[in-house]
Amino acid sequence: MVTAMRVVADRERCCSAGRCVDTAADLFDQEEEDGRVVVLADRVPAGREEDAREAVELCPSRALRVEDDAADPGEGR
Ligand code: SF4
Repeated sequence: MVTAMRVVADRERCCSAGRCVDTAADLFDQEEEDGRVVVLADRVPAGREEDAREAVELCPSRALRVEDDAADPGEGR
């Protein structure tokens, strides 16, 4: 089961620190080439919300954010 929570990464801001992967390896990976973040799960699985939020908090370059689809029904593609 997935949640309405989505993690969005701004890869231009990512400095390849890898804190997100350390926090939630099932939600994030890093490109082999340059270490930039790859979001693995389009929607955060149920029960993984806390780690998703923690990864956002720990990212040193503020490259991650969470969005809640349910709270923003008119936006998005
Ligand atoms: S913690 Fe932030 S800067 Fe580091 S790899 Fe993840 S998204 Fe990029």
